[in-house]
Amino acid sequence: MKKNIIAANWKLNGSIKTISYFLTSLKSKISSFSKKSAIVIAPPTVFLERVYKEINNTNVYLGAQNIDMNLTGAFTGENSALMMKDVGVKYIILGHSERRLFHNENNEIISKKFCLIKNLNLIPILCIGETEIEKKSNKTENILKKQLNFILNSFGKKAFRNTVIAYEPIWAIGTGISADPKSVQLIHKFIKNHIKKYDTISAENLIVLYGGSVNALNAEDFLKQPDINGLLIGSASLKCEEFLKIIKISDNVL
Ligand code: PEP
Repeated sequence: MKKNIIAANWKLNGSIKTISYFLTSLKSKISSFSKKSAIVIAPPTVFLERVYKEINNTNVYLGAQNIDMNLTGAFTGENSALMMKDVGVKYIILGHSERRLFHNENNEIISKKFCLIKNLNLIPILCIGETEIEKKSNKTENILKKQLNFILNSFGKKAFRNTVIAYEPIWAIGTGISADPKSVQLIHKFIKNHIKKYDTISAENLIVLYGGSVNALNAEDFLKQPDINGLLIGSASLKCEEFLKIIKISDNVL
């Protein structure tokens, strides 16, 4: 059965008050949905346990936005994949363009984190995507291939089994300018075909999300595409009503 993932990346937003309001509204409506869409919420780390207590035993799963490259030790201010697992995290976002840009994370760092996540049987949501300049110079496929190959080279041919990829063109994130759904479909097909060259099983079961200025008005156009298996949503995921509308759209297209 086809299943979508609708993931919320709350970034550096929220407070005890707003999160508790969001979760109360979500929980009051979520039972009326078909469960054809798995929902992931990635709050700031400090709120993970609070969110977990509210969503435990539902089809809403806990996501983390980042982990350190180490599992334990003298790394002040950091959180590890092991700690994330301990508090109920199932999915971990990595390779997000904001971390690549503001925290200097390169493909090497990302592939190290990827291996930590996989070794703990957690599910990475690996973000890949091109800049506007790369898109304009027709380099999108080469950039994506390079980002994927780093992972394949460090974790092996089966790296993308039980893994989620989020195609997020950098120029579409937080800009209000989303990509064209038909072009995204072709790119998702390209991603799956590339992975298929290494491992057919990975490619057949691969979930590829689209992210970049998705909202309740454009979500359907993306979710109708056969190789778009869900969405990674930033700003529109902060408003519970809008997020619920997107989940409903996802359920309806399946
Ligand atoms: C994101 O940051 O992953 C994202 C897709 O943000 P937005 O939906 O706000 O563009």
